[in-house]
Amino acid sequence: MTPNIERATILVVEDELASATLLSILLSEQYQVTVVNCGEDAVASVTTNRPDLILLDIMMPGLDGYAVLDRVLELYPEDPIPVIFLTGITQAEAEVRSLNGGAVDYITKPYHPDVVQARVNLHLELQTKTRALTQANEELSHLSTIDALTGARNRRYFYEFAEAEQSRALRHQLPLCLVMLDIDHFKRINDVYGHATGDTVLTTFAKHMGQLIRSGDCLARLGGEEFAILLPHTQPEEAHHLAQRFTAQIAKLSIETPDDTPLSITISCGVTQVLPEDTNIDQALKRADDAMYIAKGEGRNRVVTAF
Ligand code: GH3
Ligand code: MG
Ligand code: MG
Ligand code: MG
Repeated sequence: MTPNIERATILVVEDELASATLLSILLSEQYQVTVVNCGEDAVASVTTNRPDLILLDIMMPGLDGYAVLDRVLELYPEDPIPVIFLTGITQAEAEVRSLNGGAVDYITKPYHPDVVQARVNLHLELQTKTRALTQANEELSHLSTIDALTGARNRRYFYEFAEAEQSRALRHQLPLCLVMLDIDHFKRINDVYGHATGDTVLTTFAKHMGQLIRSGDCLARLGGEEFAILLPHTQPEEAHHLAQRFTAQIAKLSIETPDDTPLSITISCGVTQVLPEDTNIDQALKRADDAMYIAKGEGRNRVVTAF
């Protein structure tokens, strides 16, 4: 969420009436300003309504500015509120303590109103940029786990996920299964309909599979027309039945092609359990892959489980 700086909300925490009034008049031209005159009210106000920035006095009866700063930073650790101290304390130690404690700025009294205004603007802009960067990082980090063509998870994410699930399964003695899925005679689809239709088939297949699996399962495209599904908390018999269901559902799928003749596909699946003695996921993938090739050899459109 990127706040509109023009409509930003500022909390002024100041026990001196004259200073509080001056700040309120000064900042109300541009922002929505709330004024409180003690630390306790400041914490209460921030708890119910997150302001975009706080101007905070240090010396106040009751909770002082340092204590308020600590509480405020605890309240929104993911998206800290910029806190600017505005204080009569001119000693360097107080300034250092404030900045080390998490304040973004330190202004001493008597202050020039334009300086307060300029610093408030600066920190609101910095906050907006920080939020935009955080959001961009989150999006990039999500995209780095996704296969660009099909939207399924990519190979790298699958390995990370599978290794984490393998450790978890081992720690809690939970069953964990793996299914390899390969589209049958996919090369023919490319040959007959062209590569673009081949891509549509891959995307449609992945989308459909994504709807068939549970939220804790992980569908990934390992490469080409080969996909894998990791099934946490699943026994091999159950995984075998699930794979049979996937196979039957995919065979029923009707995929649109550019020349309007709907196309259907089948898949072959190899199922295996990830075993405690597997030193890495590749060993389980190899078993599932071997089982999948047996399914191909036995006529395709079927499931073989390597128990
Ligand atoms: P099988 O039933 O034995 O699996 O036969 P197949 O034709 O599916 O197997 P093969 O592995 O020989 O062929 C896979 C084909 O998938 C070959 C390759 O050109 C195609 N392919 C791989 N990646 C993509 C892709 O991203 N898009 C498209 N359209 N085709 C791809
Ligand atoms: Mg004071
Ligand atoms: Mg294939
Ligand atoms: Mg293949």
